[in-house]
Amino acid sequence: MVEAMSQPILPNIEPAETATYSTAVQAMLSAMAEKRFFKLIGGGSFTETEKIAHLARAYAMAGADCLDLAPDLQVLQTVEAVLRELPKPHPVIMISLPLDPDPHFRKIELDEPACIQCGLCLPACPTEAITLPEILEISQSLCYGCGRCVPTCPTEALSLLPFQVESQMEAALSHPLVEAVEIHSHYVDPYMLSTFLARWQPHLRNKLISLCFRIDNLPPAQILAFYRVAAEFSPLPVMLQVDGSPMSGNDDPEASRPALEAARKTIGMFREQGLPLPAITISGGINRHTATLLKEALYREIAGAGMGTVARKTVWNLESSAAAQTAAGLVAEFKAR
Ligand code: SF4
Ligand code: SF4
Repeated sequence: MVEAMSQPILPNIEPAETATYSTAVQAMLSAMAEKRFFKLIGGGSFTETEKIAHLARAYAMAGADCLDLAPDLQVLQTVEAVLRELPKPHPVIMISLPLDPDPHFRKIELDEPACIQCGLCLPACPTEAITLPEILEISQSLCYGCGRCVPTCPTEALSLLPFQVESQMEAALSHPLVEAVEIHSHYVDPYMLSTFLARWQPHLRNKLISLCFRIDNLPPAQILAFYRVAAEFSPLPVMLQVDGSPMSGNDDPEASRPALEAARKTIGMFREQGLPLPAITISGGINRHTATLLKEALYREIAGAGMGTVARKTVWNLESSAAAQTAAGLVAEFKAR
């Protein structure tokens, strides 16, 4: 177990430089240290700029520590324009990146000849991406690949395809607004991570890195080795975001329990090896009730939470000032730990 962590597996990576922190990053790291971190997850595949602007405005005004966005230049330019209008401090802007075929990076595809225009898929979509004016239409920018619509279709006309971000990654990583990246992984493969970091090294050196994954039944040595690859690469603290039920949109009081338990187990892995604990946050199934659960003694070491579907739906159809007020109430619950 420990031997797996001590293997030198980083190819072609220079020693880390000295860390530098912007004011926003310092504030975010403080929020994590104080266990009151809140992040709006915009969605790795969500690229609808009008809605992104609405969400960014509401949650920036609400005091979110971080906005986690798709690696898309138009999305970043939109958020940049929004933040320019708002007083500082601004949240840290993070972009999500796929390390492997991760479910956060998908878009729906319609097999048009197979569609019988029954409309059964419409209510399943949390972003109103599917409409049926006369024939079925799907907005690709509104779709973030949650997959809820797929099982509702009686003719199997809907399927999920990978959302290709490769062509946008360099431009997105070079955008001056971006101070943090979240690397999403399905396989949690240390070698894949080291190869990815080596490839994107010039763009990643000065950015905070968060690793997002589900622990499922992965051996602790694999998870710790995965973390160690990033920790040896980055001069800045590496964060872990442990996913429970990704993109569930579940508002049930217990919906975040899988994420909380996964985070607790991950913390135990570091403790058992006598390793310093990185900032560990949760995602997947996060909702308003999570703030209360985080106060339980079992979870006191969790640094905070990233909320996606529920946070978006909460303000989705509200006008600007009502959205900011509602978002502020939601964020305040996580800040009051
Ligand atoms: S339900 Fe999910 S996968 Fe289907 S169109 Fe809507 S956002 Fe996309
Ligand atoms: S449920 Fe399937 S067949 Fe019905 S409208 Fe949606 S895609 Fe078409």
